[in-house]
Amino acid sequence: MTKKERYQFVIRYFQEHMPNPETELVYDNPYQLLVAVILSAQCTDKRVNMTTPLIFEKYPDLSSLSKATFDELFPLIRSISYPNNKTKHLIGMAQKVMQDYDGTIPMTVKELVTLPGVGRKTANVITSVVEQQPNMAVDTHVFRVSKRLGLVPQKLTTPLAVEKELIRNIAPALIHKAHHWLILHGRYTCLARNPKCRECGLQQVCIYFHQLLKQNG
Ligand code: SF4
Repeated sequence: MTKKERYQFVIRYFQEHMPNPETELVYDNPYQLLVAVILSAQCTDKRVNMTTPLIFEKYPDLSSLSKATFDELFPLIRSISYPNNKTKHLIGMAQKVMQDYDGTIPMTVKELVTLPGVGRKTANVITSVVEQQPNMAVDTHVFRVSKRLGLVPQKLTTPLAVEKELIRNIAPALIHKAHHWLILHGRYTCLARNPKCRECGLQQVCIYFHQLLKQNG
């Protein structure tokens, strides 16, 4: 099977089984999405969704968040991972957007990564979810699943290398969907420790699955 055929099979499968994939973070606008994505680093979406309603109630927009003090915001974030840093990042992000971007969240990766708490992965998520820009955020699920399926060479060792390879091989109009497809597949089917290969419709093209078959004779 050629690389092109493998991509075609995987994309067709997801288009059929997950036609409208979406982020599992709950948000109403770009401000809320950015806060939720910053909070989601090393933390589950479920936990973030339990945390954000109170934050959004107390700080309904960037302006109010930019005026928050550490001591006011920290208790609302305490239950998630790295609360110290995330509290500082959220306030710093809001202040910078107010000062440098007239209170409007910028929508380019280049500008977004200048904000505290925003790395390339977060910037890719924001631009692809809000504007369907052809940017691919590579998290642990995307990294693992794309390698197991053989969408990217096994030798690639960094998220950036995987991102570039996926971008090269997926039609721009589908990249924002492909990001969610790979994440959701990794979260619910292609689990890190015990992938549910028996119920996976991608067995036929999956390199990892075929390696397992060979190992087990
Ligand atoms: S066959 Fe198994 S390893 Fe391959 S994508 Fe499906 S769940 Fe993951």
